[in-house]
Amino acid sequence: MALDLFEAPDYFKLDDLLTNEHKLVRDTTRNWVKKEVSPIIEESCQKAEFPKHLISGLADIGAFGPYIPANYGGAGLDQISYGLIMQELERGDSGIRSTASVQSSLVMYPIFKYGSEDQRNKYLPKLASGDMVGCFGLTEPDHGSNPAGMVTNFVDKGDYFLLNGSKLWISNSPFADIAIVWAKNENGRIKGLIVERGMEGFTTPETHNKWSLRASATGELVFDNVKVPKENLLPEKDGLGAPLGCLDSARYGIAWGAIGAAMDCYDTALRYAKERIQFGKPIGSFQLQQKKLAEMITEITKAQFITWRLGVLRNENKATSAQISMCKRNNVEIALDIARNARQILGGMGITGEYSIMRHMMNLESVVTYEGTHDIHLLITGLDITGLSAFS
Ligand SMILES: Cc1cc2nc3c(=O)[nH]c(=O)nc-3n(C[C@H](O)[C@H](O)[C@H](O)COP(=O)(O)OP(=O)(O)OC[C@H]3O[C@@H](n4cnc5c(N)ncnc54)[C@H](O)[C@@H]3O)c2cc1C
Repeated sequence: MALDLFEAPDYFKLDDLLTNEHKLVRDTTRNWVKKEVSPIIEESCQKAEFPKHLISGLADIGAFGPYIPANYGGAGLDQISYGLIMQELERGDSGIRSTASVQSSLVMYPIFKYGSEDQRNKYLPKLASGDMVGCFGLTEPDHGSNPAGMVTNFVDKGDYFLLNGSKLWISNSPFADIAIVWAKNENGRIKGLIVERGMEGFTTPETHNKWSLRASATGELVFDNVKVPKENLLPEKDGLGAPLGCLDSARYGIAWGAIGAAMDCYDTALRYAKERIQFGKPIGSFQLQQKKLAEMITEITKAQFITWRLGVLRNENKATSAQISMCKRNNVEIALDIARNARQILGGMGITGEYSIMRHMMNLESVVTYEGTHDIHLLITGLDITGLSAFS
C-alpha cells in the first residue's frame, strides 16, 4: 500500500465530546496502525495470512480486553475507549479488528462475565497479554442465523464432559490456544465450555480461498469425543442469552469498526479526487464526484453520532440489544456504500492494492454477514418496534 496519509474526518466536532483519555487511547491506536499495520497489511491480504507478529503489539496498546478490569490484566477502560480502539483498528483492516474483537468480546468477556474466579485468574491475564489467543464457536454448518438449533452437544460422564459436534466459520480457530464453545447438555440447554488446543479429538482445520477478511484466519472446530474437564464449564450463565450477551459486546465494537473502514475509504477518495486531473481539472471539481463525497461525509457523521450515543448508553448500562443491532447494521451498510463509491472515484486505480479501498470493500462483505446478518438485524429492529417476530 502507498504511504498511509490518513486524516480522520470530524465534520461535527465529535472530538469535543470525547475525554482526554478517549483521545489518548484513540491516537495511540491510530499511530500504532500507521506504523505497524498499514505497511504490511496489503501483503498479508494478498498472501491470505494473518500477521501473527502483531499480536504482542495489539496487547501492548490495550486492544485485548480494553474494558476488562486491570486486576485481570485488562485496560479497565470505558465503552467509548473500547469503541475507538475498534474504529482505529478497522481503519487499518477489518481482519485485525476481528482478531481484537473476538479476543475481547467473545473470549475474555464470557470468561469475565460467566466464568468462575479460578477461570478468570487462569485465562484472562494471558489473553490480555496476547500470550494466549482464543476463538468463539457458535455457528455450525447447518445453524448460522438460527444458533438455537445447534447440534454440538456434551454428555456428563462423571469425571468429565464428552463433547461431540462441529463449528464452522470460526475466526482465529486455526491458531487459537482456547475455544469458547457453545454446546447443548443432555437437557438441551446451551452452555459454554473452554476447550483447549491439544485435547484429544479436537481439531481446527483452516477454511481457505476466501475473497474477504484475507488477513484473518478462519476455520472449523471439530469435536470427536473430546473429554473436557468439568472445571472448564462456564458456570454463571446458560441458555442462548449467554452467547448473545457476548455478541452484543462484539457487535457494538463492529459498529465503531465499520466507521473506521468508511473513514479510510472517504479520506482516500477525497485526496485522490483533489489530485487526479481529467479534462484539465481535478475530478473533485465535477458535481457527480462531489455528490459521492458529500454523501459519504454526511453518512459518516450520522454514524459517528449514533455510535457515540450508543457508547454513552453502554457506559450507563442502558443500551438495548436492538439499539446495538440498528447501529451495527446501519454502520456496516454505510461503510459498504462508501467503499463502493470511493472505489469508483479512484477509477481503475481503485481495484489495485496501491489503495486500501478494495480491501475494505471485500472485508466488509464478511462484516455485513457475521455477528448477525444484515437481514437478521433488520428483523430485530422490526421485532423491537412491533412486538411481532418475523424470524420464523
Ligand atoms: C469471515 C467470517 C468469520 C466468522 N467468524 C465467526 C466466529 O468467530 N464465530 C462464530 O460462531 N461464527 C462466525 N461466523 C459465522 C457468521 O456469524 C455466520 O456466517 C452468520 O451468522 C450467518 O450464518 P450463515 O452463514 O449460516 O447464513 P444463513 O443463516 O444460512 O443465512 C443465509 C441467508 O439467509 C438469510 N436468513 C436466514 N434466516 C432468515 C430469516 N429468518 N428471515 C430472513 N432471512 C433469513 C440471512 O440473512 C442470509 O442472507 C463468521 C463468518 C464469516 C463469514
